[in-house]
Amino acid sequence: MKKITLLGATGSIGKQTLDVIREHHHLFELYGLSFGRNIDKAIPLINEFKPKKIVVQDIETKRNLQNIVNHDYILVGNEGMIEISADQDTDVLVNAVMGSVGLEATLCAIHANKQIAIANKETLVTAGHLVMEAARSRKVSLLPVDSEHSAIFQCLNGENHKDVNKVIITASGGSFRDKTRKQLDNVTIDDALNHPNWSMGAKITVDSATMMNKGLEVIEAHWLFNMPYDKIDVVLHKESVIHSMIEFADQSVIAQLGTPDMRVPIQYALTYPARLHLPQAKSLNLTEVGQLHFAEMDFDRFPCLMMAYNAGREGGTMPTVLNAANEVAVSLFLQGKIPFLTIERLIEKALEQHRTIQKPNLETILEVDQQTRLQVQAYLN
Ligand code: NDP
Ligand code: MG
Repeated sequence: MKKITLLGATGSIGKQTLDVIREHHHLFELYGLSFGRNIDKAIPLINEFKPKKIVVQDIETKRNLQNIVNHDYILVGNEGMIEISADQDTDVLVNAVMGSVGLEATLCAIHANKQIAIANKETLVTAGHLVMEAARSRKVSLLPVDSEHSAIFQCLNGENHKDVNKVIITASGGSFRDKTRKQLDNVTIDDALNHPNWSMGAKITVDSATMMNKGLEVIEAHWLFNMPYDKIDVVLHKESVIHSMIEFADQSVIAQLGTPDMRVPIQYALTYPARLHLPQAKSLNLTEVGQLHFAEMDFDRFPCLMMAYNAGREGGTMPTVLNAANEVAVSLFLQGKIPFLTIERLIEKALEQHRTIQKPNLETILEVDQQTRLQVQAYLN
């Protein structure tokens, strides 16, 4: 029995991770879970999985939860997430919290030698060098949950890193892939949340619409697979059937395919190198799909992707600023406070005004993250 701690249990990845745990309850046990404030979603999970430890975002949520469930181990905030992630009884951490708030829990779990399934891409964007250094020095494996990175991981299996010509990340194009930039002026929150292929949390769905998600994934791939940015390409592929590909020195290309279902990469991260039957996942019927389409990425249409490449290449604290500015801008959009195209403008401004600090330590990263959030909020006033 592997004991799992799941951060972000009430979210989209959280829910699908619980599907996998439920399916293989003879292999996995949910030891700890965290969520933010969504008590209504959390209660059925707590009743069903009976986790030994629970973490909520703040004291008020803890009080409200205590009025409903009788549980003597409810922790709060970042400290709580760190505690259950590094807990001596946890074997595996599934980090599926949204945002760079997941960083310290990831780092502490690595230092406590836990196996880690990482969905929380913001962790790798904001402080990839710290996370990878820690993982290398502790010999901890960081297994990707993001479908593209799971695909890359699978294509690289048994291959030699030096034989890779390039990594080709596929992008569905998000909710607005068929709109021109002009048409983006009047799009609404509901339009943005209507993703053609994947059902995901609100923030990542908006990130897909701005193409920042792909930008974050480029940086994530750079760190996870130790790839220079020149060897990472993005191609539009609207069917989301090919999850990503690798071209090797002999021009041979290996791709990983499947129906779009996050439970597949989640399960693989938990069972690797084994592959278990997953009855919920649909088999891929290529004759039904008929055709697969590919198009070159248009960086003028999707400037966020270029900003991410540039921030990644600059390195140091620049990706931290990219991520924090994006988190705040997306949240402002989702609150109806700014129009869609202002998201990219706020990020651009934050990047322009930042002077990179190279080789930042954790303290510097957290400081820059915080400052950027305040600064982007202040642009509005
Ligand atoms: P959701 O928004 O659906 O879920 C986020 C989870 O994190 C919820 O449990 C939420 O709790 C919790 N949470 C949010 N903010 C905080 C906070 N400040 N403190 C503590 N807990 C918090 O997100 P997704 O599941 O879509 O995404 C999670 C991560 O996985 C992201 O990093 C995303 O980029 C990545 N990812 C997601 C994919 C997907 O298909 N959804 C695909 C690939 C990667 P509450 O419900 O109480 O608010
Ligand atoms: Mg992805």
